[in-house]
Amino acid sequence: MISDNYKEVERRIKRACEVSGRNRTDVKLISVSKTKPISDIKEVMECGAAVFGENKVQELTEKYDALPKNLEWHLIGHLQRNKVKYIIGKTAFIHSVDSLRLAEQIEEESRKADVVTNILIEVNVSGEDTKFGVSPEETVSLVKEISSLQHVHICGLMTIAPYTEDPESNRIYFKKLRELAVDIRAKNIDNVNMRELSMGMTGDYEVAIEEGATMVRVGTGIFGARDYQQR
Ligand SMILES: *Cc1c(COP(=O)(O)O)cnc(C)c1O
Repeated sequence: MISDNYKEVERRIKRACEVSGRNRTDVKLISVSKTKPISDIKEVMECGAAVFGENKVQELTEKYDALPKNLEWHLIGHLQRNKVKYIIGKTAFIHSVDSLRLAEQIEEESRKADVVTNILIEVNVSGEDTKFGVSPEETVSLVKEISSLQHVHICGLMTIAPYTEDPESNRIYFKKLRELAVDIRAKNIDNVNMRELSMGMTGDYEVAIEEGATMVRVGTGIFGARDYQQR
């Protein structure tokens, strides 16, 4: 049952917060509903969920249009520049900005719509070459470049840790992302905030919370396995 899964994830987040001396309100649970139908989303909404993550623009906008407007949407997947225009004004955060060109496109569309778009910089801390994201070494200069854009607001960092059976093995990556955010914060760059750390998925969100995550992105743990064949 999706609702039971959701309650179990909630319980484990609460416990991870207690263990690490954090407030439950400091960690946002993003229910990752990619590939899942509206009926599944409604089921978790019944449990109080109001924050959803999608990794495709079209899927996000379809669900955005079909559901009540009090929900919060996060784009967590790779974003193509030609699709930016479809999501401006619909997202609480875009988690996956890893280039100046993409940020400039978000700036352009946000300016036209007269909004400021909150973004996170996606950092590839593990160095896996299959991943998007900027390298830790290049992050500061990218943050500085993007900070000059008036309609884009950097609110923190995001990372996708490697898939693993052993969540402890990802602790070093979460720690590294937090340390990078601390370093950037110390530089006091105008228009840059390092409040948010989006890290941790079904396999490792408790470790991520212990290492300072302010947003965890949980899909399978709530909605069950995804069937990509259906789409
Ligand atoms: C799919 C996805 C998730 C959720 O993954 P699960 O392992 O199912 O919890 C989190 N973050 C991103 C960027 C994703 O694409």
